[in-house]
Amino acid sequence: MTERLFGTNGVRGIINVDMTSDLALQMGKAIGTVMGGTVAIATDTRISADMIKTAVSSGIMSVGVNVLDLGVLPTPAIQYYVKTHDNVKGGVMITASHNPPQFNGIKCISSDGTEASREEEEQVEAKYSERIPCAPWNLIGDMYRIGGAGEEYVDAVISRVDADAIKKAELKVCLDCANGAAYETSPLLLKKLNVRAITINCNPQGEFPGHPSEPTEENLRDLISLTRATRSDLGIAHDGDADRCVFITDGGKFVSGDKSLALISKYVLSEKKGIVVTPVSSSSLVEEVVRESGGEIRYTAVGSPVVARKMIETGAVFGGEENGGLIFPEQQYCRDGAMTIAKMLECIVRDGPLKGQISDLPVYHTVKTKVECPDDMKKHVLEYLAGSNDGTRIDSTDGLKIIFDDGWVLARPSGTEPIFRIYSESKDEEAAKSRAHRYEALVMEYLNH
Ligand code: MG
Repeated sequence: MTERLFGTNGVRGIINVDMTSDLALQMGKAIGTVMGGTVAIATDTRISADMIKTAVSSGIMSVGVNVLDLGVLPTPAIQYYVKTHDNVKGGVMITASHNPPQFNGIKCISSDGTEASREEEEQVEAKYSERIPCAPWNLIGDMYRIGGAGEEYVDAVISRVDADAIKKAELKVCLDCANGAAYETSPLLLKKLNVRAITINCNPQGEFPGHPSEPTEENLRDLISLTRATRSDLGIAHDGDADRCVFITDGGKFVSGDKSLALISKYVLSEKKGIVVTPVSSSSLVEEVVRESGGEIRYTAVGSPVVARKMIETGAVFGGEENGGLIFPEQQYCRDGAMTIAKMLECIVRDGPLKGQISDLPVYHTVKTKVECPDDMKKHVLEYLAGSNDGTRIDSTDGLKIIFDDGWVLARPSGTEPIFRIYSESKDEEAAKSRAHRYEALVMEYLNH
């Protein structure tokens, strides 16, 4: 039987426990065989980056395939490189995104720059469990070190926005790269756009990630105070591999990913009407703003490759997740942290300071909770909740979304942990809270019966 290696975001594990050089070498052989032509490789800034990168590269070369080593890059920068260089058949990004520093991961990129589909991952998994023949000594692959991929990416991002308007505005921002993959590209982007950047955690030799690497309000306290103290126009933070980006307002208020998704949807729709794609877990704020701006919303299951695929299918103008992962189809079909910065700058220059724009958005209250639940009980719990729901309608795109006249509850079994996530949202704070408690209690009631 083929071993399932890939999770929702590539193959991830703890270094020298489940993410080892042996695994990386065999993965490299499988990837080289399946991709069958030149493979680009890049890493984030983790201590284990070189160990995993060289093992994967050695595996790729041993089956007769060349490797282009692009160095340290954000995930969207290697994706852009693979998409725009016809001689490159695929890519490998060594990163564990926002996971703690003891983790690393291997993520495959298709020849068009998108995240590998499940079918492509299955091909690599099938090869991985075989004995893979090596190339004869004189036909092994070479490794080329390529500079400049980061700047190519930054220049492409700049070409998608009104760079002159941004340059003229002479904005001042604070930037926190979590000492991760964007330490060079995001400061370069800001410099080229004539934006003055005060940086923290933009040192690749600094301790990755500088602070716990999920870009949440709690983890970004330093950036929040710095943005406030320096009276900057904007605070900007990336996760470890910079496919995501979140913001702090002028005045120092953390902006949740739902809000930046809603705001940029509105901005994009003001220039071009069309479809916006987001997972069912996103706030109704996004739907309300998209409708008011003359657009249409389409929902998907949770996960950025699903959002990207739906965007391609429907010809959407924009899409993204509530965690700050936004997808701009004119650039590429993947989450793109630098594009998110550039669009937000453009949006502020045209429509005014972020603080004012955020306070104009409708207010929703969201309660997120989780309940421990053994994996083998998850299906039964879902059925039980569906049977005892008191909503007006249910949606089963991902887990169970129970829709009420003034809000919704989403009950979703986690794909990676033995837990059930419950999200409850309403414009009425009390309704959001009481429904979260009711459904949390229903899950426990079923598990204890
Ligand atoms: Mg990431």
